[in-house]
Amino acid sequence: MTIQENLRKLRQEIPDSVKLVAVSKTKPTNEIMDAYQAGQSVFGENKVQELVTKQIILPKDIEWHFIGHLQTNKVRQIASFIDYIESIDSLKLLIEVNEEAQKNNRMINCLLQFHIASEETKFGLDKESARCLLDSKEFSEMRNIRIAGVMGMATFCTDPEVVRTEFRMLRQYFTLLKQEYFINSPEFRELSMGMSGDYRIAIEEGSTMVRIGTAVFSDRMYN
Ligand SMILES: *Cc1c(COP(=O)(O)O)cnc(C)c1O
Repeated sequence: MTIQENLRKLRQEIPDSVKLVAVSKTKPTNEIMDAYQAGQSVFGENKVQELVTKQIILPKDIEWHFIGHLQTNKVRQIASFIDYIESIDSLKLLIEVNEEAQKNNRMINCLLQFHIASEETKFGLDKESARCLLDSKEFSEMRNIRIAGVMGMATFCTDPEVVRTEFRMLRQYFTLLKQEYFINSPEFRELSMGMSGDYRIAIEEGSTMVRIGTAVFSDRMYN
């Protein structure tokens, strides 16, 4: 299957209200161009250096989402162009994003990443640390970030009910934060969940944004 065919199939399956983020990590720019020419303009990357290299060459109307663990000292390199940072997992990181966005005189959309999987290795906030962040004086003074919702990754697991339970938990966090902090903030609306193996379940559980790599570009080769 070509990238174009993969995208056409995915678009038939994914409701129009759900944003498709094509995860292009490890993929060469010519493959990203194939997807772009097939009408895909939203892409996700998880490594700063790789993203910067690609962004320079590729069309400037691409909407870039950063989806990996982000070190504070690397925010500066992407602050002039990044559209969404989906992986905010600390107040320290959010402070840095706000500062760098301010230097570039722009707004950066951010999602709070929650830890919902049983694997220890995955990053993310829990309910208490998210509240702590949102209650902070530093957060109340930020003017150059927009909290647009939450993101999470389910356990790599073949049992769909485990995955479904984790997505439900993420939706509960979303609803809770919406009620407690963002009831008058229409921009807080994204529930980013679902990858190639579990996007159908994620959409059933209310996802508004799916991050799909292998089902668009076929298997990744890590070297
Ligand atoms: C790689 C990655 C994806 C996409 O994974 P696929 O299984 O290839 O669809 C989605 N989200 C994050 C955070 C990722 O790192």
